[in-house]
Amino acid sequence: MTPKQVIALIKKEGIEYVDCRFMDFPGLWQHVTYDAEQLNEEAFETGFGFDGSSIRGWQAINESDMLLVPVADTAHRDPFLDRPTLAIICDIKDPVTRKQYSRDPRSIAKKAEVYLKQSKLADHAMFGPELEFFVFDSVHYDQRVNTATYAVDSVEGIWNRGSKDPANLGYQVRQREGYFPIPPMDSMTDLRSEMASVMKQMGLPIEAHHHEVATGGQAEIDLQYAPLLRMADMCMMYKYIVKQVAARHGRVATFMPKPLWGDNGSGMHTHFSLWKSGKPLFAGPRYAGLSQMALYAVGGILRHAHSLLALTNPTTNSFKRLVPGYEAPVHLCYSSRNRSAAIRIPVYHNKPGSKRIEFRCPDSSANPYLAFAAITMAAIDGIKNKIDPGEPLDRNIYDLEPETTENLDRAPADLESALVALEEDHDYLLEGDVFTQDVIHYWIRYKRENEIDALRQRPHPYEFCMYFDV
Ligand code: GLN
Ligand code: MG
Ligand code: MG
Ligand code: MG
Repeated sequence: MTPKQVIALIKKEGIEYVDCRFMDFPGLWQHVTYDAEQLNEEAFETGFGFDGSSIRGWQAINESDMLLVPVADTAHRDPFLDRPTLAIICDIKDPVTRKQYSRDPRSIAKKAEVYLKQSKLADHAMFGPELEFFVFDSVHYDQRVNTATYAVDSVEGIWNRGSKDPANLGYQVRQREGYFPIPPMDSMTDLRSEMASVMKQMGLPIEAHHHEVATGGQAEIDLQYAPLLRMADMCMMYKYIVKQVAARHGRVATFMPKPLWGDNGSGMHTHFSLWKSGKPLFAGPRYAGLSQMALYAVGGILRHAHSLLALTNPTTNSFKRLVPGYEAPVHLCYSSRNRSAAIRIPVYHNKPGSKRIEFRCPDSSANPYLAFAAITMAAIDGIKNKIDPGEPLDRNIYDLEPETTENLDRAPADLESALVALEEDHDYLLEGDVFTQDVIHYWIRYKRENEIDALRQRPHPYEFCMYFDV
């Protein structure tokens, strides 16, 4: 859609409000609602002013004026709001320089796309993320951390085991048995279908949906792959729709990577391929039907995995998912079919157009603009520098004897380790000014101060289990 078409649509559909949405630094959508009259053609150029200092991770108070610039081709009707409202995704600009704000995650994703094109290696990076999530009946969340009852329930993984429908109480998905018995065991089919229908209505192409492995209504709805920036926008719409539909039914959805101990966590396996002049570049005669370029991309992602995880798995909770036994990767190696490897090469179909690599580490607590940009940068680095990924590992890594796994590189154990890796290894992200030094430094500082220290200083629920009776 062009600005003219957006304005015509507003008139035709009697739109009263335009809801401007943008991404904050850590990765939550923010919004401000304008009267539809305010959105004229000029506003697509000049943008709307707002105070950037109150947005997490952004400008200091002395330089807080920022501009929200609506991007016409992201406009879509929001079916959840009572008054007729058009939602539109915005870029952030600095009113003085009129340049994209360097800490706007969307601008980083755009720069990664430009850098890829300029490299002449490819024109498009295609992304197919599998966002998993839990739907719970309700959450009793007390800011002051009323830990004792919460602790026993959640750490033992028995939180929310019951079905919503009393008639189905005998049919409870057992831990790690959710993939995927038919209803009435799966009491979430209608809810997922409703989510998928709203997604289609809002322009997100859907392939399938299903219950996931864990109990408690773990789910996945699969999107068709799309180019980097478009897919990052789609991820935000996806999360919004999932949370809103769940709320309509008095339930709550979470993308937190590991809400239940003792059961599978929620990942965001990310399928990735490069394309040039409409042709896929990852299909070829090498291992598992890959091209040499694809193998170098694997090499780049594995070489930088420790630092990459600071952006693709950027929460303290992310690393509670990356433990053995729950289909989440622990070892940084690659394999066709093997779901315990960090990178899997799917071999379902041998069509060149479906040849891709599946990076299984990421989870949906990531800011998708930053995560997809960083994955692309690591892959480009691998291709440019011909980084050899080594030999594949085609055995179930969880079952390997310790002598074999000892020498394998492992994912960082916690967020702090990933941040230390990012401090040491980020030159590949700075190429083409995609990530700036300021973004890297501030990301590390933000995560340490607001998340790692914040958690470290609080009594943890499980400490009640271990130490209450000392
Ligand atoms: N939930 C698993 C993970 O954390 C993946 C399970 C699956 O998709 N088969 O990565
Ligand atoms: Mg899947
Ligand atoms: Mg899955
Ligand atoms: Mg997968």
